[in-house]
This record gives sequence, structure tokens and C-alpha cells, in this order.
Amino acid sequence: MRPLDATELLDVWEQGLNQPPLQRALMLVAAASPELDADAVAKLSIGTRDARLLQLREWMFGSRLLNMAQCPQCAERVEWEGETTDLRIQTIDDNRLAEALNLEVDGYQLHFRLPDSGDIAALMALPQNGGSVSPMALIKRCVISANRQGKTCDLAALPQPVLDALSQRIEQLDPLAEIATELTCPECSHQWDVLFDISTFLWVEINSWAERTLRSIHRLAGAYGWTETEILNLSPVRRQLYLGMVSR
Ligand SMILES: [Zn+2]
Repeated sequence: MRPLDATELLDVWEQGLNQPPLQRALMLVAAASPELDADAVAKLSIGTRDARLLQLREWMFGSRLLNMAQCPQCAERVEWEGETTDLRIQTIDDNRLAEALNLEVDGYQLHFRLPDSGDIAALMALPQNGGSVSPMALIKRCVISANRQGKTCDLAALPQPVLDALSQRIEQLDPLAEIATELTCPECSHQWDVLFDISTFLWVEINSWAERTLRSIHRLAGAYGWTETEILNLSPVRRQLYLGMVSR
């Protein structure tokens, strides 16, 4: 994985403008991960994909996250802060993961894999789902095989407690797939968990960065006659200094 320069980021932003959020996340990770082809990127577990997005965010805009949430009790808007470095907690390494993808529960032996972006895309595309994905449907897709007392089980008929246990196991193995932060409302002291979605958050930031950057290019090109490429090749510091001189 490597950082994206301003030209590359602007290209991804432009290509992603008319894409759904899932596709934007994959395009960003693919652009920053030349070692992976598109198929491998779609097969990264959700947590691994999001760890890459957090890393990219850190390279582009730093590690400090400022976010807003709304108190579910009194509707107060609550600002919260975090660090990407706190979120990118250690996940299991690939060698140990292969062994970990087996679970024995209530006499059932399950072999499974971790949910990935391909699963989400496939579930979202089903007309009956109307573009949303239920966590349980995602878990069911990830069971590769199930045996009980030496016999193969019907995957569609696994009991709910078995699926619940599997869901917990997947959560342990891929903790970044769902990032939650506990917040306390300063108005009413209500405590709740707010979910943090790095792909949506990062895209909003990239969008405002791209708009700022295009405005800078417009002003500098007008003032100095430089091309877009020349302006993008300036370091952010130099670009900012020239912009300061133009506005004087
Ligand atoms: Zn409140």
C-alpha cells in the first residue's frame, strides 16, 4: 500500500462521483494498493478494507477525526473526536486467520470465511433487499460448509443459536468491520454507541478537498498561466503560499 498524490486522488474522486459508496471505497483502496488486483480488493474482509481506508486517511489528512452525532434521546448535536491510530487496532494476521476460520458450536462444525465487499454488493443487488443488507444474511453467505455427526448439513437450515455464535466469532476475527464509539450527551447524560463508517466519512473529506483544490487551480492558473499538472505538482505548502500572494 502507498499514499496517493494529488493528481491520483483527483482522478479517483472524479471517477467516483457517480458511483455508489461501496464502489468509491473499493476504488480508493485499489488506487492505493497496486499490489492487489480489483478482485483481490473486493475479497478483502470488510475490516481489512476499512483498515486500509483509515491508513489512507491518515496519510492524506492526518490521524485526528472530528465527527458529529445526534443524541438519540434529546436530539442534541454532539461533536466527538478520535484518532485513526486508536481505531486501527491489531487484527489477526493472515497465517493465523486461515486456521481460525473453523468453529464448533452445539455439535456443528462450521467452516467459514469473513464477509467482504463482494458479499455486500451481491446482497445489495438482490431486488428483495432494496439496497440494504441484513447482518444475518451476510453471516449466512459466509458459511462454506457445516457438518454434524459426520453428516453434511443444509446451510439454509442452520439453527439461529449456531448462526449467532458464528456472528460473534466473525466480529472477533474482523473487529474493524464495525467501528463503534461510546458517546455521552453533554445535555442529558445519555450514553450510546455511535457507528463510525470510514468510507462515508473519508469520501466527504475527499469531496471538499477536491473542490478546494480545483478552486486553487483555477486561481493559480488565472494568475500565473500554469497548467493543472504544474499546479498539482507543487507541494501543498508552496501552493498555499502562492495562493496567499494571489489574494493580496
Ligand atoms: Zn441528549
